[in-house]
Parts: sequence; C-alpha cells; structure tokens
Amino acid sequence: MADQLIRATAADNGIRAVGVITTRLTEEARQRHKLSYVATAALGRTMASGLLLASSMKKEGSRVNINVRGNGPLGQILIDAGLDGTVRGYVSNPGVELPPNSKGKLDVGGAVGHEGYLYVLKDTGYGFPYSSTVELISGEIGDDVANYLVNSEQTPSALLLGVFVGSQGVTAAGGLLLQVLPKAARDESLISLLESRIAHLSGFTPLLRAGNSLTEIMEQLLGDLGLSIMPEVQMLRFQCGCSFNRVLGALKMLGAAELQDMIEKDEGAEATCEFCGEVYQATESHLSQLVSDLKTESN
Ligand code: ZN
Repeated sequence: MADQLIRATAADNGIRAVGVITTRLTEEARQRHKLSYVATAALGRTMASGLLLASSMKKEGSRVNINVRGNGPLGQILIDAGLDGTVRGYVSNPGVELPPNSKGKLDVGGAVGHEGYLYVLKDTGYGFPYSSTVELISGEIGDDVANYLVNSEQTPSALLLGVFVGSQGVTAAGGLLLQVLPKAARDESLISLLESRIAHLSGFTPLLRAGNSLTEIMEQLLGDLGLSIMPEVQMLRFQCGCSFNRVLGALKMLGAAELQDMIEKDEGAEATCEFCGEVYQATESHLSQLVSDLKTESN
C-alpha cells in the first residue's frame, strides 16, 4: 500500500480525524540513515506526527518542524514535514540500539530519554513562523506530541503512532490523530467522548500491522460515531530539498581563503546532507570556480 493521508470528520463535525500510512517513507529513512530498530521507531513516529500536524495547516507551502531533545542516547530528532505530503528527518545517533522495554517493545522512551523538550516550529507560509516548546512526558513521542497539542494549541487530541520494524525492514508504520475541532472545543461531551474512545483506539496499531487500509481502520474504530471520510487521498513521501547547487552555495559562504585551503589540502570537499544522508562531492575545479566567483564579486 502506498504511503497516504486521509481526512475525516465524526460526531457531527465536532471531531476531526486524520490518518497516515508511512511505511515506505519510514523504510526509506531507515535505509538512508542506517537507523537501528529503535531509531527507526523514534524517527518514524516523529515523521508521522509531523505529517499529521501539517495536515491541518491551510496555505500552500506550510511546513512543520519537530525537534525532540531528550536526555537519552539517541541525541536529538529533527523532522521537517509539509502540507504537501513531503517529510524528511534524522536522528543524531542513528546506530543506538537498546534492549526491549518491560512490555517487550522497542524502547523509544529510553532511547529518546524521559526528560527534555519537544520544540514545534510552524511556518504557516506567511513569513512569521511561530514556535512552541513543551517538556517531554515519556519520550515515546505519541504522548509528547499529544501533550503539545493540548497545552500549546489548546486542542483536545488523541494521537496513536505505530512503527513495526524487523530484520526485513519496516513492515508497517502510520498514525492516527483525533481532535475536537476548535469551534467545539468547549463541548465537554465531545471531550469526554474523545477520552472514552482512547482505549478503543488502541486497536489502531494491530489493524495497521495487519495491513488494513486507512479507510478500513477508521471505519472499525470510528464507524459508530457518524464518520464521514473525505474522498481525497493525499500521497506522502520522503523528500529532501537539498541539491548540489545548495551545497556549492554553502561552501561559497566559507570564503576564498578557506576554499583555497580545501583545494590545497583536500583536493576537493565532501558534504553530507544531514536530513537525507545524500553525499555531495565538490571537486577541486568546483572549488576553484567558487574562489574565482568570489574574487569577481569582490571587485
Ligand atoms: Zn538532503
């Protein structure tokens, strides 16, 4: 099944539901960054969260960055997701592996760390990005992003995330976000409905793992709440905006003296994009061209 996002409403338009399947893009991130099992789960959950948060933005070009900085061995996680369905991201220490936690699951909370901060930056496409920070609750990502939504956006929310990874790579990944819509946010009955559904929603990950489609999953979990699924299916993919020209632009910022030094000592330069792991090689002649461009510009 291709990676995709669908939107729905329930409870007479009082609840908004968004679901994502992110199996392939999580597998792509795993391969690009050579992620361990636990790092795959941590990054996969954060990427799915980013896509779910971006889905409620309005203006074309809107993006969300989520930066998780816990005190665990994984270091920081940074993801960048767009309303257009693209996402990219990385973790500082992709090779960290931990034994399973007490429930026999991948110990994402232990790898991320139970203490630290979650930063969310939203660029709504109007040139004034706004950011917000909450303390981590568990480092398991789902709880932490839901806590951000409740405390920073004042939106009662339930968020479920699942990433299944084994020796064959990522076999299933995705997420489901339920929110009481702003106009109904003071409706106590809707909030208690949302809360009472959370246990029922734990069926999300088994349904995901069993290969059900998003439509089938939503029907099973929310079908009795007057669910209305929008017909549009949005495709999702791992995509990074880096390019060789951007790398050359960054090298140029180093200045002529530094570039000359690289030409003489290293006979070129190698740059790796942190977000996607792509390696770019600038040869001696590329660097010489930059030096001569700089000299021309300064005259
Ligand atoms: Zn890149």
